[in-house]
Amino acid sequence: MNEQLRLLIDLQKLDSIMLSTRLTMDAIPARISSHEGSLKNAEAAYENAKQQLASLEKKKKDKEQDIEDIKEKMQKLKQRTSEIKTNKEYQAQLKEIEKTEKGLKSAEDEMLSIMDSIEGTSKVIEIEKGRVAEEKAKIESMKKELEKEVLRCREELKRLKEDRKKLIDKIDADIYNEYMTIMKAHRGLAVVEAKDEACQGCNMHIPPQMFVEIKTGDKIIHCPQCRRILYYLKSEQHQEVGSQKTASDSAIASHY
Ligand SMILES: [Zn+2]
Repeated sequence: MNEQLRLLIDLQKLDSIMLSTRLTMDAIPARISSHEGSLKNAEAAYENAKQQLASLEKKKKDKEQDIEDIKEKMQKLKQRTSEIKTNKEYQAQLKEIEKTEKGLKSAEDEMLSIMDSIEGTSKVIEIEKGRVAEEKAKIESMKKELEKEVLRCREELKRLKEDRKKLIDKIDADIYNEYMTIMKAHRGLAVVEAKDEACQGCNMHIPPQMFVEIKTGDKIIHCPQCRRILYYLKSEQHQEVGSQKTASDSAIASHY
């Protein structure tokens, strides 16, 4: 096989690995923020429950005051009993006492219901508090893992960059520039296999004569449609090539 073509195939393999590593790295902040959504939900629920409790506590205080006022009123009513002169006044007094007692009973019932709500809301607060702590711990441990992954990716990229430098030293400048032009135009995929008489980059059918020439591997041949560089692999060579992924423009731009 033409030496330059062989080097270009190696370069493409290397670039595909580098771009995929870069994609993994670029996706990490999104992976973190997707988990931060669960934390924010838990925090919002926790805050909400705390506000509910505060409003219930206020209701309880108001109700306590109500009960106290009613009791005071009742005491005054009873104190007045000795001053009552007529039966009519006495009947009116009894009615008033009865009404006040009813008021007291209903205020005390409301108080019980407020206390129940306070108990329930306090339980919810404990649960939400636990959920916030759990989500925080999850994010922390995930962040640590992902930070390790970023470091691993950076190390790998550093190593691959060095390999790449050594490799491109051996490639003619014109050929390398052409490779980079195609690479940028085709999202990181400049060198592709010609298989079953078709370009694996754009699926264009390759004319039979051209396919024969590609099979010999004697020179660099471009796809007539997408201009990618084509090469041919015998079936037993497939395994070592692996898959080639395309990358985003920004990943390509930031890389070279
Ligand atoms: Zn093509």
